[in-house]
Amino acid sequence: MSAIPQERRVVTAIPGPKSQEIQARRAATVAAGVGSTLPVFAARAEGGILEDVDGNRFIDLGSGIAVTTVGASAEAVVRRASAQLADFTHTCFMVTPYEGYVAVAEQLAALTPGDHAKKSALFNSGAEAVENAVKIARSYTKRQAVVVFDHGYHGRTNLTMALTAKNMPYKEGFGPFAPEVYRVPVAYAYRWPTGPENAGPEAAAQAIDQITKQIGAHNVAAVIIEPVLGEGGFIEPAKGFLPALRQFATENGIVFVADEIQSGFCRTGQWFACEDEGIVPDLITTAKGIAGGLPLSAVTGRAEIMDAAHSGGLGGTYGGNPVACAAALGAIQTMKELDLNAKAKRIEEIMKGRLVALQEKYEVIGDVRGRGGMIAAEFVKPGGKEPNSEITAAIAKACHAAGVLVLTCGTYGNVVRFLPPLVIGEDLLDDALDVFEQALAASV
Ligand SMILES: *Cc1c(COP(=O)(O)O)cnc(C)c1O
Repeated sequence: MSAIPQERRVVTAIPGPKSQEIQARRAATVAAGVGSTLPVFAARAEGGILEDVDGNRFIDLGSGIAVTTVGASAEAVVRRASAQLADFTHTCFMVTPYEGYVAVAEQLAALTPGDHAKKSALFNSGAEAVENAVKIARSYTKRQAVVVFDHGYHGRTNLTMALTAKNMPYKEGFGPFAPEVYRVPVAYAYRWPTGPENAGPEAAAQAIDQITKQIGAHNVAAVIIEPVLGEGGFIEPAKGFLPALRQFATENGIVFVADEIQSGFCRTGQWFACEDEGIVPDLITTAKGIAGGLPLSAVTGRAEIMDAAHSGGLGGTYGGNPVACAAALGAIQTMKELDLNAKAKRIEEIMKGRLVALQEKYEVIGDVRGRGGMIAAEFVKPGGKEPNSEITAAIAKACHAAGVLVLTCGTYGNVVRFLPPLVIGEDLLDDALDVFEQALAASV
């Protein structure tokens, strides 16, 4: 395959005629409940560029939602997955195991925080990993309650819908939801009523008080938190919040689960976002960035917790598929060889520099936050903090029309999030930020 020129290029209206043609076929046969942010049909993708069927080249600031961290056709991923594909596609690890699965578990044990003995189980999707973390924590603690947080997102299956905070679009009309799930406050600094400096300790005290008074700490199997909240708006819990909950969990025999499905694997400039405050989770869930685009997820954690479930109690037909495992080994190799943690930090420097300058100029940007290649701008109505989802949607649309793929997020739909492949060229990043600035200037 020839390399895709790393340049933005818009040659048709967006979406173009070929995309519109396929879109019509899609409308007739694909369920309406499956939406698309930018309905151009992909032809190929590499580095920081996604090319559509009409030949438009988009600067990719979404990475298929934080998945193609190493790019959408990274050499080592393609090579190793292709070789595995030719050898065998599937045996089912629960029937006849293969080495790739073990090698991925070894990498997870080495890369995740903490020097205790660790084990892993592999699955297909993020939601499946989170569900299994709950199964394992319940099996280990012999308790049932699960604590999650405001603005949290953990997936779309029945249990993970219950764990997810936001109703529309994730839960509306899809209940009843799983029982024994309890939601407590998170330290959202920008919106904390008594000011950002109080958010960490006050939110932790409120969360712990609610757990103690409303559930009883001795009934709690697991506390599940994203170290940087993804869909909820790229919220970095204010300093002190995560350590306080980690300590509370330790003191009360509660399994502390870090959901690093979006924030893990170099995304924030560290292998895992919880390293920022030195948190060592008991269990950690990973997916998205782990395998360069192939479906793979994992639960990794303390050996004694991971081994609590009886033999045959965990698994699934496809979990830890050999091609996905080969891809993961290629993706992890790429992250190490290209030092993508350093690249993520450089992306943060470039993006925050530009976005903070824009924030000074435009009062609709209320907050600029995030770490590494996980950066966001939160939009508000002028003169206050009222969420401004209208301008957020308008900016995203204008970026799309100009050939820059951005995503939005946030409980109030008022956050533009940037998740570039960490291999993106700096010139592409600069160009994309120019486009973003023009889109913003045209939308105020
Ligand atoms: C995306 C995501 C999930 C769900 O992953 P799927 O692969 O879509 O099931 C769970 N937790 C977090 C933090 C996520 O970002």
